[in-house]
Amino acid sequence: MHAATAGAQSAPEPIRYALSFPAPQTHYVEVTASVPTGRRADVELMMAVWTPGSYLVREYARNVEAVTASGPDGRALDVDKSKKNHWRIATGGAPAITVKYRVYCREMSVRTNWVENDFALLNGAPTFITLADLAPRPHEVVITPASGWKRSITALPSMAGGDHRYRAPDYDTLVDSPIVVGNPAVYDFDVDGKKHSLVDVGEGGVFDGARAAKDLEAVVKEDRRLWGSLPYDRYIFFNMITESGGGLEHKHSTVLMTNRWATRTRRAYLAWLQLASHEYFHAWNIKRLRPAELGPFDYENENVTRSLWIAEGFTDYYADLQVARAGLQTRDEYLEDLSNTIELLQTTPGRLVQSAEMASFDAWIKYYRPDENTNNTSISYYTKGTVIAFLLDAKIRKATAGARSLDDVMRAAYQKFSGPKGYTPEQFRAVAEEVAGTSLKAFWESAVEGTSELDYAEALAAYGLRFKPAGAAPADRGGRPWPGITARNDNGRLVITQVQRDSPADVAGLNVDDEILAIDDFRVRADRLENRLEQYRTGDKVTFLVARREQLVRVPVTLGAEPAKGWRLEVAPGASEMQRRLLDAWLRGEPSPRA
Ligand SMILES: [Zn+2]
Repeated sequence: MHAATAGAQSAPEPIRYALSFPAPQTHYVEVTASVPTGRRADVELMMAVWTPGSYLVREYARNVEAVTASGPDGRALDVDKSKKNHWRIATGGAPAITVKYRVYCREMSVRTNWVENDFALLNGAPTFITLADLAPRPHEVVITPASGWKRSITALPSMAGGDHRYRAPDYDTLVDSPIVVGNPAVYDFDVDGKKHSLVDVGEGGVFDGARAAKDLEAVVKEDRRLWGSLPYDRYIFFNMITESGGGLEHKHSTVLMTNRWATRTRRAYLAWLQLASHEYFHAWNIKRLRPAELGPFDYENENVTRSLWIAEGFTDYYADLQVARAGLQTRDEYLEDLSNTIELLQTTPGRLVQSAEMASFDAWIKYYRPDENTNNTSISYYTKGTVIAFLLDAKIRKATAGARSLDDVMRAAYQKFSGPKGYTPEQFRAVAEEVAGTSLKAFWESAVEGTSELDYAEALAAYGLRFKPAGAAPADRGGRPWPGITARNDNGRLVITQVQRDSPADVAGLNVDDEILAIDDFRVRADRLENRLEQYRTGDKVTFLVARREQLVRVPVTLGAEPAKGWRLEVAPGASEMQRRLLDAWLRGEPSPRA
């Protein structure tokens, strides 16, 4: 027994995948995997049930079919489906076996697969079956594009030996590296000598890729200014112009989904830039600076954390702020977007029920599984996290007379916790307190752990902002008459989709799925509910005639007053010099990081 023996262990053998698309119009990718067995009598294979960044068990194995295995001599081996996402294969003692399967790829989302005539989008988790022990080993991928497809693009490192050959150092990297194959339009730009690419699938002569790439470069530079450096060698924005939505973050890339017209109107374009900015900010916040629970991932079970209000909420706060700081949207546009977020929070009854921490903890069973009662019982950690970031940023700037900010907290947390371990909520708070130079206990208990109303006064005073005074309600009416329901026009049927907790409708007993036929015996057409309600005053007693599971029901309702909104931010007329200075510094991203 000596040192040389220990050192003589050979590097783990890779799993080698070959992907092909013999009939892409049928939406299948064919996978052949050469799997080393370590000469075990049988091996257990596994497919992930979820994709990191999207917190829902999605049972990807449901799209897998025709799993077969063979030994080196080509003879078939027994494949036993041992769990919903596991396959056990008797190896016959072979050092490596060949596993074949095909995956149906027709779910257009950032965390699933799509294959069609023109292109393929493949994510790692729903594509690659691996050894269930997840022992560290490289995973190699060789792609045969379908006929007519010229390119394969992924952030995976290339392998020698020709095009379309990639090597992930481990399974985590494989899962974190989506692959696009086809003929996308590609726009490259360098920042800090590092190559960035915008990969557009489906421009259709409509989406303006050149302009989008130019503006992305400005966002990249702005984030680089905030964080001080770029944490990767290469970065890819996969932009799937597929009439869908959403984005998913990775360490070296992101997948965005949008529609063809996203560069045509300013509103839509800013929303696209903010989406890209959000996912790109994740290259730091969540992919490298992460909650302790989000790594190493358990790919077969829920991974819960109390910190998504930081990982997602703060990312959403910076998504818009960095677009504004990069000069791509105006101050008024930024304040408008922030106002919308505040208003969304303040008009969601669930804010008084679920804390930011619990919204994060229950993401798997609540945020990702919304229903008609969601607004009454829960709050989005994106929304509340953004508002917490706004309040905390202002608090720190005020406490330090503008010397420090939330930017410093993010940088300090990154210095301390990026890497293998991640942070706990307590550790993140300690960093924030260190930067602020003051205790944040009361703020945390109320804003993060609690469900009481947030106090905006301090933040508004810091920047010299105010909520625009609401227009006076008609004096004789006492506000807009309001039952407290949301309804949709279902092919001419006016159907209730939500009943707000404690609203007049809730108290009176109007139900979700009730079809509204008439109010006070006068027919209400599906597009005329607003108009009909305007005929009344708050306090009026009316009778809704509804159809409930085909039975007519009369429900007396006393109309209330629509809750005042009044969450539009504006610069207060008498803002002081100090307030204006803090406002400018906040929206310009100052003070800049010390060199
Ligand atoms: Zn996100």
